[in-house]
Amino acid sequence: MARFIFITGGVVSSLGKGLMAASLAALLQARGYRVRIRKFDPYLNVDPGTMSPYQHGEVYVTDDGAETDLDLGHYERFTGVASRQSDNITSGRIYKTIIERERRGDYLGATVQVIPHVTDAIKTFARAETDDLDFVLCEIGGTVGDIESLPFIEAIRQLKNEVGRGQAISIHTTLVPYIAAAGELKTKPTQHSVRELAALGVQPDVLVCRCEHPLPASERAKIALFCNVPASAVIPALDAKSIYAVPLQYHGEGLDTEVLRAFGIEPEGSLDLTRWQKIVHALTNPEGEVTVGVVGKYVGLQDAYKSLNEALVHGGIANRVKVNIRWIDAELFEGNKGEIAGQLEPCDAILVPGAFGERGAEGKIESVRFAREREIPYFGICFGMQMACIEGARDLAGIETASSTEFGPTEEPVVGLITEWMGRDGLEKRQASGDMGGTMRLGAYTAALTGNSVVASIYGTDSISERHRHRYEVNTGYKDALEKGGLVFSGMSPDGTLPEIVERPDHPWFVGVQFHPELKSKPFDPHPLFASFIAAAVKQSRLV
Ligand code: GLN
Repeated sequence: MARFIFITGGVVSSLGKGLMAASLAALLQARGYRVRIRKFDPYLNVDPGTMSPYQHGEVYVTDDGAETDLDLGHYERFTGVASRQSDNITSGRIYKTIIERERRGDYLGATVQVIPHVTDAIKTFARAETDDLDFVLCEIGGTVGDIESLPFIEAIRQLKNEVGRGQAISIHTTLVPYIAAAGELKTKPTQHSVRELAALGVQPDVLVCRCEHPLPASERAKIALFCNVPASAVIPALDAKSIYAVPLQYHGEGLDTEVLRAFGIEPEGSLDLTRWQKIVHALTNPEGEVTVGVVGKYVGLQDAYKSLNEALVHGGIANRVKVNIRWIDAELFEGNKGEIAGQLEPCDAILVPGAFGERGAEGKIESVRFAREREIPYFGICFGMQMACIEGARDLAGIETASSTEFGPTEEPVVGLITEWMGRDGLEKRQASGDMGGTMRLGAYTAALTGNSVVASIYGTDSISERHRHRYEVNTGYKDALEKGGLVFSGMSPDGTLPEIVERPDHPWFVGVQFHPELKSKPFDPHPLFASFIAAAVKQSRLV
């Protein structure tokens, strides 16, 4: 039976619980264990798909088409284990299921309550599909003390008891703040937070203490004394230079050893961390640097582009260069040509990422034009591909009013709503007036690449599977006109109905993809498109 590791957070949010979970899973994996990480989100949205990226950061999409929390991206990048719908649950999804069952009459007249119905649903979720695993790590979103997270804490209390001794442990992440005026690290917030968790019936076995200064042995001993854990299980977590240095750092502080000991497992032998050492070495010893201009919409919050940011870093690892990202607000360019050259000229490559809605679209089209005319490498992702097609239609195919129906009615819908497509479970149909949540073309779909295309040589194959999240699609009715303008459709859905990739063979590097390759890139396995794009940026940097 799989063992459970429950991860909670205390004192404040943003302590890097997700990164800790991902790093611990990677360390356990390096010891030969099979792992999976799950995220419990206490908010009432059914999934984060309808939330603004400013509220919630990026929506991470899984192969099976779930729109999930961005922490699942970390989990996948650190472990290589593909996340699934069954790895992320929200209070909203739980309540939706329970209320639907209640309406159907499934509860046979019972009063439906948080305990047992909600807590049972949480436990069922935690235990589902775990037979082939050694460890399941369950991260509870939010901070202990939040009203929303109470049913989750109660469920882990029950589960710990049900699975029995040695089968489940709990890790609590806290903050040990440094008070500059006193020159001291303070353990009181940690003591209070552990007391709060213990009052809910969950005694942590390991404490991960985020701190900006090294935690002296005396403070470690004090935390151990007041919080009822061995001093060796008080793990200091100082800020790391790179997120990819975090697994090595936690290993150095004994996290994986303490976790195994808490299960009564005496760690044997050493673990192979060369994968992580190589990544950190490449990041700390770059042989050059490039600047990529990302022309986007949510540039004020980089969490909105988490996977993209990481995939660019991975492209840098593949080419042994540091990638500087210049985040540019597309709206700056609207009606301001001088601004475009000022912002984009210093860039060795330009990328327009995924987006929704009209705001900033014209600025993105201007960026495509700039990259095309100046022969600067251009990478268009989802919305960025659609804007590349609109630019091509307007400037090279003479379709001056080319637009997307996402922006309102248009005579020239070069990009239009997809109303029908072959889904994983049969034909999917949509209407303009349908629900917003969970109704896009989501998850992994196969694309067939043209044999002699640029992308086929980048991927080294003519059949790929990539993750999607979009409602609109380049209209094949304009394929001939766009191809006459030099934009080649080099990737299509296997039935030939949906364009997946466009490229300009007459340009140093110009690729637009309808999917999100950034979601599958890993530090130890950089995505081929990002590796190739950064290689093109390196070439460009040597030209100018
Ligand atoms: N808004 C566009 C669509 O729905 C692009 C989506 C995206 O970039 N992820 O098709």
